[in-house]
Amino acid sequence: MKKLALSLSVSLLSVAALAQSNDVVVRERLMGAAFLDNQSYALLEEMTNLYGGRITGSESNEKSMQLLERALDEHGIQNHREAFTFPGWERREDSATLTHPLQRKLRSIAMGYVDQHPPFEAELIYIGKGSADEIPSNSQGKIALLAANVKLSQDSIQAFATDNGITGLLLTNRKNGGQLLARTANYSGDASPIPIYSVTEEEGRWLKRLTESGEKPRVALSTSSIVKDIDCDNLVATIPGKISKKIVIGAHFDSWDLGQGALDNGLGIAQAFDVTRLIQSINPNNHYTIETVWFNAEEFGLFGSYAYMERHKDDKIVAMINLDMVGNPIGANAMGFDSLIPALETFSKDLGGFALPKPVANAPWLGSDHMPFIIQGIPSMTLNAPIQAEAVGFYHDFADTFEKVDREVLSKSIGIISVLAHQLANDQNLDIPRLNQEQTIELLKKAILDEKMKTAKIWPFGTE
Ligand SMILES: [Zn+2]
Repeated sequence: MKKLALSLSVSLLSVAALAQSNDVVVRERLMGAAFLDNQSYALLEEMTNLYGGRITGSESNEKSMQLLERALDEHGIQNHREAFTFPGWERREDSATLTHPLQRKLRSIAMGYVDQHPPFEAELIYIGKGSADEIPSNSQGKIALLAANVKLSQDSIQAFATDNGITGLLLTNRKNGGQLLARTANYSGDASPIPIYSVTEEEGRWLKRLTESGEKPRVALSTSSIVKDIDCDNLVATIPGKISKKIVIGAHFDSWDLGQGALDNGLGIAQAFDVTRLIQSINPNNHYTIETVWFNAEEFGLFGSYAYMERHKDDKIVAMINLDMVGNPIGANAMGFDSLIPALETFSKDLGGFALPKPVANAPWLGSDHMPFIIQGIPSMTLNAPIQAEAVGFYHDFADTFEKVDREVLSKSIGIISVLAHQLANDQNLDIPRLNQEQTIELLKKAILDEKMKTAKIWPFGTE
């Protein structure tokens, strides 16, 4: 009997050792293939060359998704679309024009959710950051110029209109060089109460000087863009596991329209594609099912990931990895989920020469597709992975273009994310209940995100 127990434990040990050495082989193959068999760089080049930016609801978005579907099909990766409708916005011909002391069309863009209106012209005043003491008493009926870095919300914009009678806003861009960072006026999908345009840092400074010169500059605004419901799809690829409980790898598919969305989030599209392809070809049999999701309508307010979560709220999701503008990985972030820390520490150690130099962080942040998962108490993680400094600042600008993608860094990130996904997909310690609502609220409060979420009108838990 003793002998049997001994030989049983020896064989169990050797099974474990075998599994471990197999893991090493899989990691080596994933990392090697990420460099020597990168296919996503060419895919992203084709996508950005042919279709440009992928704003949700556009033909470019649809054609880009078809291209990705064909690539998945070619590699025999199961995939399907999941349709949803969201309160969207379509950019049309808009203009902000200086009409006095000279006639000059400004380099500007309407912010998302600025709705069409009859053209009008008014005097321009400067209101700095927009605090009460910066707004002159004669602001009624005027267009106001804001300094850079003013945080706007639907409520604050409404207050400018109702409390001060301001009829339009120009927001100075925070970076110079003629940049225009596209973004929405709010994250609730509501039409902005008054038109808001983003102007370049240089023209913002010039307009400010004009308001100080006694010239009483005048500006005309004309907006044809419209707020409207938009039908679109998330794209989901599946590698079935031994069980249906799953790991979700998410990356937003949409981008802004001015540039090509190469960094934001062409990188994530590419990484999610190659990671899925490499795991499917090198190690398709994992414990958990791997579901890779390309979310649409992230830039308008995470509508795709909320739609996915709504549809899959009863699915058993053991962990979520969000890939949004992932450059060169230097650390992992457990986003407040203590249960992820051991797995992320093991992951970094097992990368050997690629071990992430920073310790595992544990700080959730707002504004990307992990949020709907966190709200459901699902352990979610991101990577601290900077994009080269000279390129990252262009992320919503005209200049978010393909040549800024560094192929070698992309390959390295794909290797690292593949190793992470493979490890998570086989880590049975992750099979624990998700956080309940009370614990989730605690997690968000600990990170001091609750007040921010309430201000942005995205706090989902009601008032306590
Ligand atoms: Zn993004």
